Amino acid sequence: MRVFITRLIPDQGIKMLKEKGYKISIYPKDQIIPRKDLLKGVKGADAILCDLTEKIDAELLNAAGPQLKIVANYAVGVDNIDLVECEKRKIYATNTPGILTQAVAEHTIALMFAVARRICEADRFTREGKYKGWGPMLLLGTDIKGKTLGIIGLGRIGFAVAERAALGLGMQILYNDPKPNSNFEKQFDANYCKNLNTLLAKSDFVTLHVPLLPSTRHLINAKNLKLMKKTAYLINTSRGPVIDEKALVAALNKKQIAGAALDVFEFEPTLTSGLAKLETVVLTPHIASGTWEARQAMSRTAAENIIAALEGKVPPNLVSSQ
Ligand code: NAD
Repeated sequence: MRVFITRLIPDQGIKMLKEKGYKISIYPKDQIIPRKDLLKGVKGADAILCDLTEKIDAELLNAAGPQLKIVANYAVGVDNIDLVECEKRKIYATNTPGILTQAVAEHTIALMFAVARRICEADRFTREGKYKGWGPMLLLGTDIKGKTLGIIGLGRIGFAVAERAALGLGMQILYNDPKPNSNFEKQFDANYCKNLNTLLAKSDFVTLHVPLLPSTRHLINAKNLKLMKKTAYLINTSRGPVIDEKALVAALNKKQIAGAALDVFEFEPTLTSGLAKLETVVLTPHIASGTWEARQAMSRTAAENIIAALEGKVPPNLVSSQ
């Protein structure tokens, strides 16, 4: 059995695959694999272990060949995979849910602090030699305790963020999701906003935890950014295209909102013009799940999915187009 891995990942999953005696090929360069190398590399593979940077579509599945049994995504989001095409060919598609929830929730909280307390701006200021002594008005930020956090998408990560914000930071929680969760409301004294606009208007911090779907593309746009408080902050660790980034840059320039902290970008790795110039934004390069613990667990989970599929079993983290 041959497994093609599109980029080097932490070793635990690779060891598990090697122990099974599979022939492993890994794209050797530490860069996003160019499409032509990807199409060549997958040829004859029984399993592909890929990242969210690889588009898995009909062309790629055809290039792999009819022996392909599984596409194991090294991510929880599967917006890079054409699931309908996989299903047509009876190829399993899997993800790595749950094990990166804590890492992403912690990064979300880190971004919230960074933007509210102007940490990156203050770091730049200090490094540039601008610090001339303590000042009563120097780089003032905003408190977090007692503020309202609006969570859009109350799945695994949204829930973990709520838990930390409510119990650890004393925030009030509002949430929007197609499915209300009354147990969650009782547990965290949280309030459901059926209407997204209500959540946007009432929140001091808004954080996005939805998958990228046709229905969530530009969920945050020019029209509803206007509903947010002038003092509010927007945080995104979900997927870039959930925000209309051009509209966000315009809103920040007009000071319609106080700031934004983004781990993901609409056209990543390219940033929308004007975004990087804004002092009121904190930017990280899609590293919300980037802890050794989470990435090793993702490596093991992707390997478990591949081993199950190659042993003729249904993999544990199957995703479907439904
Ligand atoms: P999940 O499936 O557990 O939760 C997603 C939630 O979003 C669900 O509760 C769903 O009902 C809700 N939802 C769907 N459409 C919605 C809409 N239109 N409005 C409001 N809510 C809606 O997924 P998860 O494990 O919490 O992960 C969420 C997303 O985070 C992933 O799909 C992925 O794209 C992203 N993610 C990013 C990183 C990163 O490194 N930045 C890491 C992991 C996951």
